[in-house]
Amino acid sequence: MSGLIIKNGIVVTMDRDRRIIENGAVVVENGKIVDVDKTERIMEKYKAEEVIDAKGKVVLPGFICSHTHLYGTVLRGATLNIQPPTDFTQNLQRIWWPVDEALTLEDAYASALAACLDFLRTGTTLFADTYSGPNSIENSLDYIEKAVREVGIRGILAFEATERHSEEEGERGLKENIRFIEKVQRDKEKIVMGMISLHASFTVSNELMMKGKETADKYHVPITIHTSEGLGDVYHNLERYGKRTIERLYDIGFLDKNVVLAHCVNLIDDELKLLKEKDAKVVHNPMSNMLNAVGVAPIVKMLEMGIKIGLGNDGYIFDVFENMRSAFLLHKVHHKDPRVISPMEVLEMATIRGAELYGLEKELGSLEAGKYADIIIVDTRRAPTPINASSVIGHLINTFSGLDVETVIVNGKILMENREIKVLDEEKANEKIRKQMEKLWDKIREIKPQIDVKSL
Ligand SMILES: [Zn+2]
Repeated sequence: MSGLIIKNGIVVTMDRDRRIIENGAVVVENGKIVDVDKTERIMEKYKAEEVIDAKGKVVLPGFICSHTHLYGTVLRGATLNIQPPTDFTQNLQRIWWPVDEALTLEDAYASALAACLDFLRTGTTLFADTYSGPNSIENSLDYIEKAVREVGIRGILAFEATERHSEEEGERGLKENIRFIEKVQRDKEKIVMGMISLHASFTVSNELMMKGKETADKYHVPITIHTSEGLGDVYHNLERYGKRTIERLYDIGFLDKNVVLAHCVNLIDDELKLLKEKDAKVVHNPMSNMLNAVGVAPIVKMLEMGIKIGLGNDGYIFDVFENMRSAFLLHKVHHKDPRVISPMEVLEMATIRGAELYGLEKELGSLEAGKYADIIIVDTRRAPTPINASSVIGHLINTFSGLDVETVIVNGKILMENREIKVLDEEKANEKIRKQMEKLWDKIREIKPQIDVKSL
């Protein structure tokens, strides 16, 4: 007797052969996938306590957001009393750095709860988050963990170590990561995981960078850093080190297969070769890049070279369908060529490639026997044309939105069913979040540009 069978769906496995099984079924037992096959064969072989009929619906692995900031939710809808930033560096100086300095541990919890609920409602079951809060460093990851566990989706959590103000600040950030990694290594079901996070090459010295890398290697966890997002990052490295960002990271021995680089917008071909040589991973954040007007990452070239790319939201829009659609469209218009990226390549970024980025490809990212049962079911009623094995990928990229995600299962547990969140009282949670955000908004109403950055 198995725990759960999902039957009669169009099963998009994202396995090695990218199999799509019409009238397919998935068997789940003790949090793991036991079998994926035609419904007829599954029903002959297995019996389950619970059976979900997904007739006409799409069954696929839960989405993976490879780069986010859960606290990105705190400014939604806010109007700020500041001179509008003219570029990305001013964006940090005038908005995000004053805001992250105002954050408390309670803000970290409330914003994480809001973001995790948004992920759950729209089908993302694993995310990699980096939290920044110079005045709420110690134990911040425990507060975020609490929110993640309440919602039940998976999270890779880290504190974004930076030497924005001082070397000591960087040390404290790194220590918080180490403390948390040691703590969550006990989580054998990998609901919450740890990693090392550094802010960006213009706020982190070579010493802290390599200390972070050595720590990541010691604990066998990934390490992530913002890379060549705005041009300020590139100019900083050219002026200070006489090298472009990726050249500097390569020369100090930082680049490796466990390194996840967020953005990589302003890269030249020579830098791409260095990434490929070291098998360093990249996260594409198309909507954030458009919002911050930093440019278009050379994703098409990276795909051609076989560099592994995941999809992130950078704390902006949490609905993965919007992020997938943006990735699908941005490169077409940029290259003035509609052939440059396919729906399947985009879907891969949001599923199996995301798992590969964090060394989790044997456990997550596809529907295959032996993997964790992180599964979503998408309602297809809004599709105006037939849905079958040949059209389903196109529909996922062009037709649906996160609000069509009907059911979400993580680790074999049903967290949302028919759009009803089963693990917590959504209304109460929303009320709690808004109360906390109101307090924060009172505090940051008069935001002051922050320019006292330590020179590295
Ligand atoms: Zn980011």
